[in-house]
Amino acid sequence: MSKRVIIIGCGIAGPVLAMLLKHKGFDVVIYERQPEIQPSGLALGVSPQTFKVLNILGLAEPLIPLGQPLEEMTTYSQLRGELLGKTDGAAKIRAWLGWPLILVSRARYCQYLFDSAKDRGVEIHFNKRFVDVREEGEKVTAVFEDGTEAVGDLLVGCDGLHSGVRNSLFGKDEATYMGLVQIGGFAPQPEYFSSTKPGIMQVFGDGAHFICGQVNSTAMMWATTLPQPTEAFEDWRRLGNDETKEMLKGLQVAGWENGPKELVAATTFVTKYGLYERPILPVWHKGRVVLVGDAAHPTSPHLGQGANQAMEDCYHLVRLLCKAEPFTDSSLQTAFEEYERIRIPIVTQAVEGAKAEGARRVLVGKEACEARDELIASGGGNNPERQKLQMQLIQGPFMGESEI
Ligand SMILES: Cc1cc2nc3c(=O)[nH]c(=O)nc-3n(C[C@H](O)[C@H](O)[C@H](O)COP(=O)(O)OP(=O)(O)OC[C@H]3O[C@@H](n4cnc5c(N)ncnc54)[C@H](O)[C@@H]3O)c2cc1C
Repeated sequence: MSKRVIIIGCGIAGPVLAMLLKHKGFDVVIYERQPEIQPSGLALGVSPQTFKVLNILGLAEPLIPLGQPLEEMTTYSQLRGELLGKTDGAAKIRAWLGWPLILVSRARYCQYLFDSAKDRGVEIHFNKRFVDVREEGEKVTAVFEDGTEAVGDLLVGCDGLHSGVRNSLFGKDEATYMGLVQIGGFAPQPEYFSSTKPGIMQVFGDGAHFICGQVNSTAMMWATTLPQPTEAFEDWRRLGNDETKEMLKGLQVAGWENGPKELVAATTFVTKYGLYERPILPVWHKGRVVLVGDAAHPTSPHLGQGANQAMEDCYHLVRLLCKAEPFTDSSLQTAFEEYERIRIPIVTQAVEGAKAEGARRVLVGKEACEARDELIASGGGNNPERQKLQMQLIQGPFMGESEI
């Protein structure tokens, strides 16, 4: 009889992991605490490593038209009032790795993954908040807030930043506020951008950073990162009209030239969220329970790697679980240790790289900002360190043929 895998969380990792496992003959079920898929968040950069994983399921090509393939990256300095550089790296990535870098609305992406999982017969239960896990012999039992339970051969925590599965395994370590907020939104593409190629445009300022890009042929997303000492929660939801207008008016970037001014003025949807971190654990499993995605390694969004790294976790975990069949305590232990050995060094680089990039984006003081802008100009519009790391990261999780 096929092994039953319980997945907690139907965000981004959950449905993809479920589809890959089902594709390999496992019996899977997802439990999600929300009553339905939430249309929250802004946009995500989906890079080639995600396309490689989704292609195993035939889901890569249909994703491309749901977002906007990017061609160039343009970087300005607010202090200098000039262009620091323009690269066509995004267009070259497609030629190099066979898959594009796209920007897609997070809500649209989540809906696509959920619909695909449902179409493939993945069992998904909503309104099921995981609260605890028990292991008895070769079985694992998930306990939900409503008092119900589910039994399987394995449980995977895909339950994000505040992972309850992680708390159950290793005790509660609260997510820590990083002292940064992002305020961002969607807007119809202003006339200003009509002659630019689709891509990412960013402006580095003194104590603030602005980034924007096309999410489809008519709309753009933007976000500004700012230091804010008082804690701001990260609920990623749409803000109401009155608070939005006041907040937008007060933003530093609302007066910036080279695009921000026009985009902020045209905004139709606004969200504000604090950025949080949790330490990367040295071990991601205990017994027959294992963590994937943000549950194991949440990251700030400045390298655009959170959702992409989660896809690499899914690929390696499924590949190793196939090798671990028939499951025994020892074969699972070997699989999980190998999974951690491959993934921890890479996600550590991604998380630390994103944190360093966040700090560069909110540098305060003329001298420090001028030195940063000079470094970016010397890299043709990108910080050379960041560029090198990003190029390494987007190649994974395999070169050549998939082993799944
Ligand atoms: C609402 C939201 C909006 C975001 N917006 C952006 C964005 O605009 N830009 C960006 O770069 N990154 C954004 N992120 C972060 C990015 O999406 C993540 O890095 C990426 O999704 C990681 O995927 P994941 O599946 O590990 O976690 P998530 O996508 O966070 O999915 C976790 C899922 O688990 C569910 N869950 C949590 N606890 C329980 C529980 N106890 N029981 C059952 N289910 C549970 C959650 O409801 C959620 O559906 C956002 C994250 C969230 C949660």
